Amino acid sequence: MKWLEVSVPVDQEAVESASEILAHFGYAGGVVIEPAWTSGSEGPEFRYDPIRPVTLRTYLLLDEQVEAQRRRIEEALWHLGQMRPVGELQTCEVEEEDWANAWKQHYHVQHIGEHIKIVPSWLEYNAQPGDIVLQLDPGMAFGTGLHPTTQLCLQLVEYYVRPGLRTLDLGTGSGILAIAAAKLGALPVLALDNDPVAVEAARANAAHNHTPVQVALGSLGSGQHMGHWLSGDFRTEDHKKGSTRDADAGVVETEPFGLIVANLIAKVLTILAKDLTASLAPGGILIGSGIIIERESEVVNALEATELQLIERRCEGEWVALVYRKDDREDRSGVR
Ligand code: SAH
Repeated sequence: MKWLEVSVPVDQEAVESASEILAHFGYAGGVVIEPAWTSGSEGPEFRYDPIRPVTLRTYLLLDEQVEAQRRRIEEALWHLGQMRPVGELQTCEVEEEDWANAWKQHYHVQHIGEHIKIVPSWLEYNAQPGDIVLQLDPGMAFGTGLHPTTQLCLQLVEYYVRPGLRTLDLGTGSGILAIAAAKLGALPVLALDNDPVAVEAARANAAHNHTPVQVALGSLGSGQHMGHWLSGDFRTEDHKKGSTRDADAGVVETEPFGLIVANLIAKVLTILAKDLTASLAPGGILIGSGIIIERESEVVNALEATELQLIERRCEGEWVALVYRKDDREDRSGVR
């Protein structure tokens, strides 16, 4: 059998959306995500290079439909290219044997933090004592463990989580952070997302990993009234009275959390600063991530205007994650 391999280099941030496009047309929904590699600083080791483009590939059956499919992919990528850097679509005819092996060989077990291992379901992984194994396939929603912000959050969740800590993962995507928190002992774990596709993916992943994560459609405070995070619609309640879309997002009322991890974007964290703080228990920890370095001060200003104190900052490339702790003193009238 003959196949048309289509590939496209895309910016890190376009990986999830571009993969969805390729998965829509590609054979069996399969997409290879091939990150750029770079030599390690300490000899012949290899690491992902988060700066250079990632190559995405999929395979189309070489039949009379193929040209129409190729054109539709090109069109969809063109639209995406208006918002994110997307390179040129390349094609190449291949024989069955080539692609059958190519398909999954680019995936690896990812080792993150001290103990976390992200394992694609088709790979055998011999877990060692102490390993926290998450079985996650690259899927529809953001959060395959590839993005630097997700990696930062996983490291920080691993560090700050404690058994029995009431935890919220706001903007759960694939559920990766909530599942990691639950596997590390957090309880209960609530995972919220205002995108129904993410909620579905997170539910499936939580079930597949046998983790007791409660996944719900919704957000916190003024987040309940925002449109999709990539839509640029950040209007809060006052501006959006009468919108029917509000009805789609659930409202979840809970007890305060000991840990909140929010891998969103700077703008959303800034808008939600007060709501995030209000949802933290005294002494609670907020991990705020997804912050591009140029916009860090905006988030810092918003969070520091609340009763939070910065306790840690981690960077990966141009991304920053900030960790805040809520004051646990009864009397907050004194000096902070
Ligand atoms: N937590 C995952 C996914 C992060 S991507 C990870 O770390 O990899 C950000 C997610 O936040 C997306 O799934 C998006 O739908 C969701 N999101 C964006 N704005 C939101 C808001 N205001 N309320 C709830 N979820 C939001």
